[in-house]
Amino acid sequence: MHPIPYGRQEISEADIAAVTEALRADFITQGPRIDAFERAFAEYIGARYAVAVANGTAALHLSALALGVGPQSRVITAPITFTASANCIRYCGGEIDFCDIDPATITLDIEAVRRRLAAAPRGTYQGLIPVDFAGYATDLEAFRELADEYGLWLLEDSCHAPGGFFTDRQGQVQGCGNGAYADLAIFSFHPVKHIACGEGGMITTNDPELYQKLLVLRTHGITKDPAQLERQDGGWYYEMHQLGYNYRLTDFQAALGSSQLQRAATNLARRRAIARVYDEAFGDFGPVELIAPPADGGHAYHLYVILTDQRKALYDHLRTRGIYAQIHYIPVHTQPYYRRRSAEPVSCPQAEAYYERCLSLPMYPTLSEEEQQYVIAQVMEFFNG
Ligand SMILES: *Cc1c(COP(=O)(O)O)cnc(C)c1O
Repeated sequence: MHPIPYGRQEISEADIAAVTEALRADFITQGPRIDAFERAFAEYIGARYAVAVANGTAALHLSALALGVGPQSRVITAPITFTASANCIRYCGGEIDFCDIDPATITLDIEAVRRRLAAAPRGTYQGLIPVDFAGYATDLEAFRELADEYGLWLLEDSCHAPGGFFTDRQGQVQGCGNGAYADLAIFSFHPVKHIACGEGGMITTNDPELYQKLLVLRTHGITKDPAQLERQDGGWYYEMHQLGYNYRLTDFQAALGSSQLQRAATNLARRRAIARVYDEAFGDFGPVELIAPPADGGHAYHLYVILTDQRKALYDHLRTRGIYAQIHYIPVHTQPYYRRRSAEPVSCPQAEAYYERCLSLPMYPTLSEEEQQYVIAQVMEFFNG
């Protein structure tokens, strides 16, 4: 059996044709394909606006800037995430605090956040960054209520969850990143994510003011909008109104993204089918513990995580069999950078306990039935001998 990674992109002939066509066109950065990708993505996600950017980390950084994060800001996120979810606040000079996860969902524990907010002087915190970890949609209705109680903004890190959803108290399905409850949501188009652009990212929102800010921040803080200009010199004239960045996506990456987006729904269905097969294989298998998915079927399965007390030995065993399982994630608050920044040791016992036992099994749409059965058999062989 050839090597089986935990995740991988799928590039079709249609994708290659779309990129080739874009390369032959007049604009290879920030051309018409950016617009088309943004519109199609916003529609898929169910948000009003989408802003394409260079990668998911840039999406986080621009979001933090648009939300006004600065050196006086304090923000809360979960420790079980990619470090970028936290780093975006540090880019702006703000401080990031970590609240523990709920072991039932591995997402930010709202009760831990509530306790942290209640214990701090009012005004200490400015925002919350919940993460739809592995594709498990955060209950943003509950987080919105808590955020409103304290006057906080809400930034959803939805990198794992395009097409995922939760069901709110009105019985309404709320797609991840649809902007109904969060101010902004961000996505990544890194090759292991649902949609691959090589590098790429997107910010979605329903807020027209944040949308305008993001557009300007993406291109150096420069505007040519006649309504915004402080004076008029001629056709060439532009003004830089704030310190922005070059965080643009290229037109040929957008062409790839749009082409991939056409398969997103079928690929998501395939991810969910793969998860059902793992669920059945391991549901009654003693040595392996599973994380129960939400009952409404809204899980987007960027990752399929199993828990075991013999995680390291299983990881090593699978590697000898050509199966490259992975660990998501090393708790961010234990990274030396964040440990050194904190005056007192930060403790998130649930996240730390989860990290000791978690293992992400191969999960991607082109994982064949045969490959998946091989993975299952190798896991079982490890425990059964
Ligand atoms: C991938 C990822 C990011 C960063 O995205 P890049 O495109 O790699 O910069 C941020 N947050 C989470 C949860 C991610 O999985």
